[in-house]
Amino acid sequence: MKSAWVERDAKEAVDRYGKAGVAADLALRIYSTRLLGRDPRLVLHGGGNSSLKTKARDLAGEEVAVLRVKGSGADMGAIEPAGFPAVRLEPLRALRARKKLSDDEMARVPRAYLIDPQAPSPSVEMLLHAFMPAKYIDHTHATAVLSLIDQPNAAALCVQVFSGRLGFVPYIMPGFGLAKKAAEVFEKNPKVEGLILDKHGIFTFGADAREAYERMIAFVTRAENRLKKNRKAVFAGTKLPQQIAPAIEVAPILRGACTLLDAGGEGAHQRPILEFRASDAILNFVNGKDVARYACAGVVTPDHVIRSKPWPLIVPAPQVGKLDAFKSAALKAAQKFIDDYKAYFARHKARTKGAVMHDAAPRVVLVPGVGLFGLGASKRDAIIAADIAQAAVAGITDAEAIGRFTSISQADMFDCEYWPLELAKLGARQVLPLAGQVAVITGAGGAIGAATASAFAAAGAEVALLDVDAKAAREKAKTIGGNAIALKCDVTDAASVRDAFARVVATFGGVDIAISNAGAAWQGRIGEVDEAVLRKSFELNFFAHQKVAQAAVKIMLAQGTGGCLLFNVSKQAVNPGVNFGPYGLPKAATLFLVRQYALDYGADGIRANAVNADRIRSGLLTSDFIRQRAKARGVSENDYMTGNLLGREVTAQDVAQAFLAQALALKTTADVTTVDGGNIAAALR
Ligand code: ZN
Repeated sequence: MKSAWVERDAKEAVDRYGKAGVAADLALRIYSTRLLGRDPRLVLHGGGNSSLKTKARDLAGEEVAVLRVKGSGADMGAIEPAGFPAVRLEPLRALRARKKLSDDEMARVPRAYLIDPQAPSPSVEMLLHAFMPAKYIDHTHATAVLSLIDQPNAAALCVQVFSGRLGFVPYIMPGFGLAKKAAEVFEKNPKVEGLILDKHGIFTFGADAREAYERMIAFVTRAENRLKKNRKAVFAGTKLPQQIAPAIEVAPILRGACTLLDAGGEGAHQRPILEFRASDAILNFVNGKDVARYACAGVVTPDHVIRSKPWPLIVPAPQVGKLDAFKSAALKAAQKFIDDYKAYFARHKARTKGAVMHDAAPRVVLVPGVGLFGLGASKRDAIIAADIAQAAVAGITDAEAIGRFTSISQADMFDCEYWPLELAKLGARQVLPLAGQVAVITGAGGAIGAATASAFAAAGAEVALLDVDAKAAREKAKTIGGNAIALKCDVTDAASVRDAFARVVATFGGVDIAISNAGAAWQGRIGEVDEAVLRKSFELNFFAHQKVAQAAVKIMLAQGTGGCLLFNVSKQAVNPGVNFGPYGLPKAATLFLVRQYALDYGADGIRANAVNADRIRSGLLTSDFIRQRAKARGVSENDYMTGNLLGREVTAQDVAQAFLAQALALKTTADVTTVDGGNIAAALR
């Protein structure tokens, strides 16, 4: 591993931050922290931290010694001065005289001595930084170091590899006890350039930012070099079926198997979002004969446990043509995981006061022949779980190549998994009603589709915006942000629909809600209209709805967790407009399509509902068209748009809210909701 320090860049950081009143020592702290945070071999998702001992002024204007330490869970790769809260150093150091700190006292420590009470909470490893004298301290969970120290003989290996230049601290969970122990180890040999924390990670010290950083790089490089020597071949592969089913067919089945039925809600499922990873290294790992031993032996570093749980779910290899057998095996394995997790919680819960069990579903699934999946309540969480799992694959593979991967005990993992200060890294969570659900919206480049995608995303769903106009879909997806994806899809083309749904499954793991919204209006007096026009309209306004619903239902059945089909049917389905036969006829057929789906798939928990909207400004109802119609009726444009019982114009947002209400109404199916401001001729009776 090479040092990424560039003197010119470091100076530039000092100048740039200097202009904003940031002292040079903090500017360099930021510069080297970012170097560490940008390399996933060193730091992943809030794992790792750094600090600086300097001075700051308190409210009284008095200059005091402070520790500026990374905030808990902050991203080191993009950290700014505010990411380093300043904490009074003297009272922190005074805590060392204490024999013990209770959990309640420990919970007060992070915020007790902040210079700015509004600052983020400092890292849980703050005390360790405070008890060490070095001006700059860097800490990482470098994968190469973990492979070396996740061994039964870690202490001896470290003496050999680091030539005694790093102190060795036996495993203790992060917190007061670890900070005290680390200080004792350091004081026995104050010449050490850093510390190894057994089964956890590495600290390096420096008089300046560059020294601490380059020591980190040098020691990690030593670990990397050791991992290249005396390797044995890993892993002996297991016998796999000739033809393995692809990840997109496996994902919905796993998603269903790892879905929990909400404690309170009949039919309300807590579904995970999936992130798929495969590489030669991952396949070598998941295909190993002994995968259950080394993959379930524990975490590579303790803070991973809050993202990955103490062990992954392992399912059998999925064989092409035998997905039913795979599904029942996956369900069984997932149930066993859940039972084992509940038993683990029951065994250890007395260790943490007031511990409340997290959901019992797995966060990582290993699939021989296919790869690994990260699972989370959102796409972001799923990506983090997959990143952590991938780091574990690398760390465990190298550990096994030079010895035998050894982790901390389940009791130790429990202590970290349920430690409130560790959990604080996850941040406060607001659980939105559609969190964990994947919604596909067709015609999402248009006004109604885009408003619907926004409304579903705001309710917590992961959204896929499909449109024949890929650019329009992309632009709308951009305004939603987050993990919204845009896909080109011609809903009248079966292959295009299939491909788009496959992409959605590849991205999120499945589909829960399909909003079949794409449509277009054709006109013509029915007795004279060209049959080609009628057929064209049927393709888009009827058959396309069928294609979309069929693709969605296939995935929903594989998941086995119900689902929701929503259709934009239009008031034309019940109230024909003059010369609008080519539009109204297929829409009327689509209204019955909705009822047919409700009837045929109710027993599978799949609901089918429709919205009959009217007079919404959109691609269908262009400004030109509105002007014409208004003129034809001898009314103003505004009177035309508000010509309904309520006298109010109906908007795309109104339609979106109706779709959302139907998605949330778990006991409602075969429903038609009118969103037209009131039109008695179009009212259903
Ligand atoms: Zn750590």
